[in-house]
Amino acid sequence: MRIDILTLFPDMCYSVLSESILKRARGAGLIEINCRDIRAYTKDKHHRVDDSPYGGGYGLIMQTQPIYDCFMSLCDELGKRPHLVYMSPQGQVLTQEKVKELSKLDNLALLCGHYEGVDERILDEIVDEEISIGDYVLTGGELPALVIADAVTRMQPGVLAADEAFEKESHFSGLLEYPQYTRPFDWHGAEVPEILLSGHHANIERWQREQSLMRTFDRRPDLLSDAELSDADKKFLKKYIEEKNSSDNGETNKAE
Ligand code: SAM
Repeated sequence: MRIDILTLFPDMCYSVLSESILKRARGAGLIEINCRDIRAYTKDKHHRVDDSPYGGGYGLIMQTQPIYDCFMSLCDELGKRPHLVYMSPQGQVLTQEKVKELSKLDNLALLCGHYEGVDERILDEIVDEEISIGDYVLTGGELPALVIADAVTRMQPGVLAADEAFEKESHFSGLLEYPQYTRPFDWHGAEVPEILLSGHHANIERWQREQSLMRTFDRRPDLLSDAELSDADKKFLKKYIEEKNSSDNGETNKAE
């Protein structure tokens, strides 16, 4: 897979792409991620890429010409048109499902806005979809583009030690991940749950699944309606909820 980030700040992106797992994945050829400097395509003699908004208003808007030419040069280089995502606080909020979908593409391009955003006609003419990384506003699309590049990279075959590494993680199957521990066994008087030292794989897996179910119910009950749940999961959850309700009622009675 190849990802191209269209940005005014390529060095900002490369500083993240040149560290840790992203660096290794790129170095091993498991994914190709490049940055394209939008400013290099401006035809303005002062290298401007933005101007004030028609109708007045605050800030500057990125102009159509440099973005369009930057994107067209990418299409020429690839010999095809990549799927183009505009990073935008107005887009659909990113989910693991969307990451899975994007990670299956051969070519993905991420357009980073800056200042007050980009001329609307760019969105109408070349952008395939808009994605937000959350309901807040950042100064530019570089961090959101890097979030997508990171999430998509770790799903490429060979990037993590085993596919299981992400299949059991939070959100992949619709549940939050179970709690994890490492050495030492006893830290500040808190011991690792005994079951994890039992060596009994079936029991450990059951415990982890139950922890995932409880944690998702406690922290993100909204996820449960879309999660893939077996009959055993549903039975366990029903019992857990009943027990929780009766202990909550006990607490309330005590307080009264
Ligand atoms: N004026 C725009 C608006 O109100 O929708 C916000 C522009 S923001 C200051 C500048 C750029 O940062 C945007 O063009 C976009 O590329 C990026 N950006 C900001 N917040 C984002 C978010 N939550 N998700 C994705 N991109 C974001």
